[in-house]
Amino acid sequence: MISLPIDDLRAEIKDAFSSSGHVILTAPTGSGKSTRVPGFLLDDGIAGDKEIVVLQPRRIAARMLAQRVAEEREVSLGTEVGYQVRFESHVSRHTRIRFVTEGILLRELITDPDLSEVGVILFDEFHERHLQGDLLLARAREMQKTSRPDLKLGVLSATLDVDLVQNYLGEGPVLQSEGRTFPVETNYRKRRQEEPIWEMAARVWQSSLNDFPEGDCLIFMPGAYEIRQTIESLKQCFQSEDWDLYPLYSDLTPEAQDMAVRPAERRKVIVATNVAETSLTIPGVRMVIDSGLARIARFDPRRGIDTLFIEKISQASAEQRAGRAGRTAPGQCIRLWSEDEHRSRARSELPEIKRVDLAEPFLLMAAVAGLDLKKWADYAWVEGPDELAAERAVNLLTDLGAVDLDGRITKEGQEMLAYPVHPRYARMLHAAEEYGCVRAVALIAALSQERSILMPVRGKHAKELREDILGDEGSSDFFQEMRAFRFAENKQFRKDLCGKLAIQGATARRVGKVRDRFLQIAQQRGLKIEEKAGEGDGVRKCILIGFSDQLAHRIDGGTLRCDILHGRRGELTRDTIVREADWLVAAELTEIEKSTGGVDLRLSRLTAVEVEWLEELFPEAWQNTDETRWNPNTRRVEAVRLKRFRDLIVAHEASAEPDPSIAAGILADRIQEGDLILKKWDDSVERWITRLNCLSEWRPDWELPPIREEDRNDILIEICHGALSYKEIKDREVMPSVKGWLTPPQVQLMEGEAPDRFKCPNGRRVPIRYQEGKAPVLSASIQDLYDLKKSPELAGGKVTPVLEILAPNRRPVQVTSDLEGFWQEHYPKLKVELARRYPKHEWR
Ligand code: ADP
Ligand code: MG
Repeated sequence: MISLPIDDLRAEIKDAFSSSGHVILTAPTGSGKSTRVPGFLLDDGIAGDKEIVVLQPRRIAARMLAQRVAEEREVSLGTEVGYQVRFESHVSRHTRIRFVTEGILLRELITDPDLSEVGVILFDEFHERHLQGDLLLARAREMQKTSRPDLKLGVLSATLDVDLVQNYLGEGPVLQSEGRTFPVETNYRKRRQEEPIWEMAARVWQSSLNDFPEGDCLIFMPGAYEIRQTIESLKQCFQSEDWDLYPLYSDLTPEAQDMAVRPAERRKVIVATNVAETSLTIPGVRMVIDSGLARIARFDPRRGIDTLFIEKISQASAEQRAGRAGRTAPGQCIRLWSEDEHRSRARSELPEIKRVDLAEPFLLMAAVAGLDLKKWADYAWVEGPDELAAERAVNLLTDLGAVDLDGRITKEGQEMLAYPVHPRYARMLHAAEEYGCVRAVALIAALSQERSILMPVRGKHAKELREDILGDEGSSDFFQEMRAFRFAENKQFRKDLCGKLAIQGATARRVGKVRDRFLQIAQQRGLKIEEKAGEGDGVRKCILIGFSDQLAHRIDGGTLRCDILHGRRGELTRDTIVREADWLVAAELTEIEKSTGGVDLRLSRLTAVEVEWLEELFPEAWQNTDETRWNPNTRRVEAVRLKRFRDLIVAHEASAEPDPSIAAGILADRIQEGDLILKKWDDSVERWITRLNCLSEWRPDWELPPIREEDRNDILIEICHGALSYKEIKDREVMPSVKGWLTPPQVQLMEGEAPDRFKCPNGRRVPIRYQEGKAPVLSASIQDLYDLKKSPELAGGKVTPVLEILAPNRRPVQVTSDLEGFWQEHYPKLKVELARRYPKHEWR
């Protein structure tokens, strides 16, 4: 075996694992962590008679590392050293070092919650922070504290936030190896907008060949498609005739993957996904060309599932990629973006738990750790999820019936785990088994993973052509899409033929592949898949089961507005072929900004459902409540029995007569809200209340109870008592109930001390205007006030109203609270002038 930097740490590694339950080990990529450490632990007896499991975030890495280790240890793959990835297993009962993907080990926990055969778990490439890796580490820590104190954990990475992991794991050994790295010179090339990334990569490769006389070249591309395009572009350069060109990504055959890594006679260009970033080391690379892109899984709120988005990698990732050029000698890296742009990139990737859908991992945890999902926040997270995302996951699982209302996994939930897909589709496939429509549902599940394969059509002719072939009405938009898919499939997804009906041929082809995968899973589960994919009720029931959390009810026939489960509202898309249904499920919800602010939801990919199905399929999701409520149409209070499906009101039927006091309360509320008007609650009532409130404020010693806003309801209830409809109360007397607020002596006191009108010496009664918090105002003409020497007094002499003294034209000539002063000082002068202007009046 060749010597590797990690060999120098062998003794320390042995000590660390012997003395502690958890060890952190960091060393640069290529140091030998993945290929050497498992062997050390086995040979040094750290695992006892149990096995060493090496967790890998990627299938391709699990397979290739196992193969390398088997070679180095001179055993055949599947004996002492083996690997397991989804749908592929090379292990036996002799296997002591097992490379597995994270998903495999998580699922093992379902059947063997204590991992009784495992002695050591190595979390390789932990910096990638896959959600499943986080979950496994949390579960492993819990096991160490309870059932498996002997279990040993190792966290391995080239580029790890050691503090974070150490804080999480607690005190323990941290080993570091400097490794051997050589300097890498990094250059940037600004990208031309219109140039495809693969053409740019080929161009850059060609133009830098002179600066790079030795070694191999590694080109990073986001996915298989871009990798194939790059290889095509490289072939166009005549220089590539002297080179071997290799793709490297997960879906290749193992032979093709090996070719890319093996040392070769000729120089080679390897075009790889980010699997070559840290998981796999390719010896001899001196030059890296980095597209700066990767496919990153992220939650797509529209479809409610994770989608792979092509995104810009972080600075930390770019650093790792560049480092691949300096493994064996100094090298160079060319980044296909500008230095300015580089500075604006994220420093590191967000851990997966912060960006993906949590439904599937939460379901696994409920199964594995017996976790009560209502208490997700108490789980020992390395870093916890976003609260909203966690609630959404718990809600969805509850709606799918995978967990019960206490947050515990149900029998149904256990069944769903058998399908290694998102719980929504696991639930649909499981239901399809019962309704004998696995084929149709597999296709629908596949269609919902992508945007619609039907593009909008423009023009009458194109529309009619499509409608002729695909139909323009029906009970589900999926049925139209299914017909479109079959059309495309029959035409071998040919672009020209699909294009005629505005069908996305390439998307349809992907849908076909996903459908086949679903069918394969179904077949492995022993389901029958021979039936023809039809459009029966069973299919719609399966769609309802998968999307019951997006159940919607049309508010009325005239608009497209809907109430949606969980207190949401939205509008159906105009493009739907489902126009008649009252009840629907939407497979897609899109948030749209409202012009009035806030967001609204647009519902698309609709399927009509029957209310009876809701009763049949979700018998526990119903609640009946008796309610007394206002019916705005009949303008009556009525007692109804409401039937609710989860939180949506599905039906109501009249029940017995409403309770009179509840009815009076409801009527009173409607009046106070301004919906109903009592004819006799007029200005005089308001004035009376104001007088009372003023007097009660001026004379707290008299202890008159004021009528505040909140007291009005009591009075209204008294007025409405015994009535059920607006008709009965509209003309009811108001004043007696208002006055009833006071005792008769209190009423008398008020009439005397805060009268509505003031009686002038000449016998005229002039109004007093009361206003809470202000002095009252009395408007009277000069003639009315003759013989009155002093201002009148209210509230037992405590308040003097402001006098608004009016001329014969009813305009105020003076505003004062000192009448005596007015007569003495202002009046004599005023009189002369007024007498001249209004000679017919009396002027004393
Ligand atoms: P680490 O996990 O520290 O990044 P590895 O254990 O994967 O490092 O690899 C250590 C060394 O082993 C690499 O530098 C490389 O030279 C060599 N190596 C690993 N896998 C292969 C392989 N399949 N073919 C040839 N060499 C390999
Ligand atoms: Mg490694």
